[in-house]
Amino acid sequence: NADKAMYKAKELGKNGYYFFNNDIKEGLERKIKLETMLNNAISNQEFELHYQPQYEARTRRLRGFEALIRWNNPEVGLVMPMEFIPFAEETGLIVPIGSWVLNTACKLCHKLNKAYGLNLNMSVNISPIQIKQQDFYEVISQVLEHSGIEPSNLELEVPESAFNGIDNVLSVLKVLKDDGIRITLTDFGTGKLSISDLKKLPINMVKLDKEFIHEIDQPRPQDALAESIISLVHKLNIELIAGGVETKKQFDYLIKGNCDNIQGYFFEEPVPEKMLEGIITKGILENEALTRVIQKAG
Ligand code: C2E
Repeated sequence: NADKAMYKAKELGKNGYYFFNNDIKEGLERKIKLETMLNNAISNQEFELHYQPQYEARTRRLRGFEALIRWNNPEVGLVMPMEFIPFAEETGLIVPIGSWVLNTACKLCHKLNKAYGLNLNMSVNISPIQIKQQDFYEVISQVLEHSGIEPSNLELEVPESAFNGIDNVLSVLKVLKDDGIRITLTDFGTGKLSISDLKKLPINMVKLDKEFIHEIDQPRPQDALAESIISLVHKLNIELIAGGVETKKQFDYLIKGNCDNIQGYFFEEPVPEKMLEGIITKGILENEALTRVIQKAG
């Protein structure tokens, strides 16, 4: 039996080694292929945006959407952003891709607000590489002009790493914030920024990433950091949005902790544009019902 087990382990080991080598080779081949194809993706119209609804936590009122990019390539199929955004950043292609995202998302936001008489926000992920471009302010000004979106309906989601000691990032974000554009800090807690650093940053909102939210489901939710972060950030007059909310337990905890805004699979996954009409109509109906309840109560 021992011999048999040894033999099996060797076989598995061999196979494991074979698969490992093959994986690396395939991975490298895919990487080279992706880089070449990414170059042509905008002109070939291979990008698409999906939109994930964001809600005001207490009222469940639809407050807007986060735009999330998808790449549909006829040869390799669907590529998710985690796979190609790092490439796009390495190669600088994130700059034209990011401008395409901003223009597409803002045009849609303006169109929806006009069509439904709403005041929805559009959150757009911004790479640090984009902000560090000399003409970032002009890019945003042109997006506002071409799309017609109100500055206060545009939210730039900026990761903590963008703030690493680069002064012109701070100054351009400050000017944009003074112009009425909303700035949301994402990935908070992954870098060196502490709560007290936040008050020096030109931001309106902090996004609590899913790692903090998923802690709530652990056996001792009282150990989760989310509630203390919310109350400390609120003391600085900064709003919070929780991302990646998946369960009723997380939702209840966040409501109790006074979190301002929420998004996650518990409500909806990111959806293609054609599904937004249904979500907005449902949101309007729920809002009207809520208004009636409030009026009746009081
Ligand atoms: P992110 O900004 O943190 O976006 C949230 C990610 O979590 C999205 O993945 C979303 O689909 C996913 N998500 C949403 N709700 C839930 C949930 O309840 N549970 C779980 N487990 N996941 C949830 P996605 O679309 O794959 O995007 C991944 C990341 O790629 C984004 O993270 C963002 O950093 C980046 N990204 C996406 N679109 C863009 C873009 O247009 N520009 C830039 N620069 N980055 C982008």
